[in-house]
Amino acid sequence: MYDYLIVGAGFAGSVLAERLAKDANKKILIIDRRNHIGGNAYDFYNQDGILIHKYGPHIFHTNSSEVFEYLSRFTAWRPYEHRVLASVADKLLPIPINLDTVNWLYGHDFTSEELEKYFEKIKEPVQHIRTSEDVVVSQVGRDLYEKFFRGYTRKQWGMDPSELDKLVTSRIPTRTNRDDRYFTDEFQYMPLHGYTRMFENILDHPNIHIALNTSYAEIKKYVSFKNLIFTGPVDEYFDYCYGKLPYRSLQFVHETLDTPLLQPVAVVNYPNDHDYTRITEYKHLTGQHHNSKTSITYEYPSWEGDPYYPVPKPENAVLYQKYKLMTETLPNVHFVGRLGTYRYYNMDQVVAQALTLYGKLSNRKSLKEAIDTRTEKKHVTSPGIYVPSTISVGRRAGNLKSGLESSVRWCGCKTATQTNCTRTVTRRAPTIWRR
Ligand code: FAD
Ligand code: UDP
Repeated sequence: MYDYLIVGAGFAGSVLAERLAKDANKKILIIDRRNHIGGNAYDFYNQDGILIHKYGPHIFHTNSSEVFEYLSRFTAWRPYEHRVLASVADKLLPIPINLDTVNWLYGHDFTSEELEKYFEKIKEPVQHIRTSEDVVVSQVGRDLYEKFFRGYTRKQWGMDPSELDKLVTSRIPTRTNRDDRYFTDEFQYMPLHGYTRMFENILDHPNIHIALNTSYAEIKKYVSFKNLIFTGPVDEYFDYCYGKLPYRSLQFVHETLDTPLLQPVAVVNYPNDHDYTRITEYKHLTGQHHNSKTSITYEYPSWEGDPYYPVPKPENAVLYQKYKLMTETLPNVHFVGRLGTYRYYNMDQVVAQALTLYGKLSNRKSLKEAIDTRTEKKHVTSPGIYVPSTISVGRRAGNLKSGLESSVRWCGCKTATQTNCTRTVTRRAPTIWRR
């Protein structure tokens, strides 16, 4: 009998598995219908040896020191500040819109103060900012909205920005200085050895069993468990009894080119041309070197395929509330994550949400308490120290094998170095069932 069955091995499910196993000594079975752990953050080395993100670019950024401290137990980091260019009027211009964007687009030579006055002049007054169109036109006016936001949003969401909640385009700030970073969070890093490696370390605990290629519907009859954590689509759990919640999907087209580098930054957005929204070039994100090749991904939005984006608009919020009321009638079932709570969440927000749920389940009052580990108090984390893992993987591990075999495990010993750590890292390999 498992204490918890966890559906989904993305951030939400894996963080909860780790906390419940390690801190609360619970027995966990975590399943995923995909053939890998990591959820949408899964990355892998393609046939040319380049680390790519199967489900599009994932850039880690957070203002939460607790989230950052917690994840630092499972990975070292590579400092990385994300920069994005938008292809507009035959130029590659910084997005978020900043002083250079406006000067280079229109051939002005504004100072920051002059740009502020310019925005004051061109912005459209909107009394109640409700939609994603309102957000942008009320800051930078119609022309910049049409050049940078309208086409991209129509492609990405299959609807006009005027139909979408303000929270969608509010993700992108407007700046009057020359800061061209996509994010301004305090912690901006990429996991040094990739996300999948980090997930292997998160799930590396004898109390955690993992079953891949396994959906909740097919396994629920055969496994006994006391509690359920569900990180899949909430409407799926209830057999769509109130109707389907819309999720926007993407088709990812991955390519490797015989050129050392394609574009000047990791992501170039195409608001007005092509059917794809953006091209990502991974070497910028990972810092990986390859003399002659580079790998890229095109993102083509669609309604068909895996659910990636909850669609923030009023009628969907109403429908979600109906499902949410149903979730509240099930005391031993917990819904968490981007799909489980139908929220357009970033990775760090999902980690915080999972830690908060763990705090509730274990009577902890804060995130700080939720990341405290009762069972291994003497191993305090100190970033940057690695010891090679002795983890061995059974034959049935299939696709995961190569990743786990080469994995290194985070050792939290305060005094350890790679050569003198005396802490044993021998672990029973997680049970991985595959068909
Ligand atoms: P998921 O990662 O979706 O994991 C859920 C898992 O549950 C999946 O693996 C799924 O297969 C499994 N599952 C679902 N239903 C079932 C079932 N019935 N049975 C078995 N298994 C099931 N965030 C950032 O912070 N920075 C970024 O740069 C960023 N870029 C993104 C780019 C794209 C294209 C997308 C789509 C998302 C991006 N995100 C980014 C968001 C990030 O992917 C999510 O916040 C995060 O992965 C959500 O984690 P999760 O565990 O809630 O869900
Ligand atoms: N957006 C846009 N033009 C851009 C970048 C973003 O119109 O060049 C809008 C679009 O609606 C997008 C939203 O802002 O869906 C949020 O952008 P973000 O880059 O955060 O999207 P994500 O990485 O989550 O797909």
